[in-house]
Amino acid sequence: MTLLPLRILIIEDNEQNRYLLTFLLEKRGHTVQSAIDGASGIRKAQQWQPDLILLDIQLPTMHGYDVAAELRRHASTAHIPIVAVTSYAMPGDRERAIESGCDGYVEKPIDPDTFVIQVEAYCGSAESGGRRGSGSGC
Ligand code: MN
Repeated sequence: MTLLPLRILIIEDNEQNRYLLTFLLEKRGHTVQSAIDGASGIRKAQQWQPDLILLDIQLPTMHGYDVAAELRRHASTAHIPIVAVTSYAMPGDRERAIESGCDGYVEKPIDPDTFVIQVEAYCGSAESGGRRGSGSGC
């Protein structure tokens, strides 16, 4: 599958994780911006209109599930695919992520060899109409 460079927003409070995800995505040619909490992440998503959002679930002040729900509520961000990236391993977390508006779910610790492919797949499936919503710019 050939993909154009994607514009990817990372919402993640942990600096090491932000650095790793950014490194892996930029190495693949994607353009990355990041935010360290939900409120600034939502603002950045509205302004920058990324092709994809990677969302940490354990965030300060605003829970990742609430961030996803808020992104879905706003018309300007409702169509953007969201992939939860979380170390939560409780039963039902995947379901909760999907219910809150996430399109997918990647568990931490991420596998550096497969992470980018996993994430790109959420944009690839948008082309084939595999996800909800009005279609994205992926
Ligand atoms: Mn976190």
